[in-house]
Amino acid sequence: MTDDNCIFCKIAGGEIPSTTLYEDNEFRVILDLGPASRGHALILPKKHFADVCQLDGATAAKVLPLGAKIGAAMKETLGCAGFNLVQNNGKAAGQTVFHFHMHVIPRYEDGPSIVSWIPGETTSEELAEVAETIKKGL
Ligand code: AMP
Ligand code: ZN
Repeated sequence: MTDDNCIFCKIAGGEIPSTTLYEDNEFRVILDLGPASRGHALILPKKHFADVCQLDGATAAKVLPLGAKIGAAMKETLGCAGFNLVQNNGKAAGQTVFHFHMHVIPRYEDGPSIVSWIPGETTSEELAEVAETIKKGL
């Protein structure tokens, strides 16, 4: 349920102090110590799941509404123009703490680019080939 070697288990359980925005029986929402913008928060389930693939259905169903609630509060109180919900899975995707968490990142007008990529190019043949490949795992 929790992992003794996991820092986010300890933070979510209150064993390590954090700046907490919200807490209930299943989640703690904290401010990120290395914020991408003012108010950057992390939603931490109290149970240990390494990533989204391990998340149980009941927890998963609550994460998105909680992200919306935190983001709406940020818009109301911080005056941000929008927010990103970001969730990294795997080292290659930028995950550094292997306890599922969702970032809630306030975005301000004229603020820095935070989550972006340069759109690439493709062909209908390539799209069809990639789709067929992924479908084999579904
Ligand atoms: P990720 O790269 O998606 O795994 O995100 C991990 C996030 O956790 C980073 O944004 C870190 O700044 C943040 N972080 C790491 N340790 C702590 C901590 N003790 N308290 C708050 N945020 C942390
Ligand atoms: Zn953990």
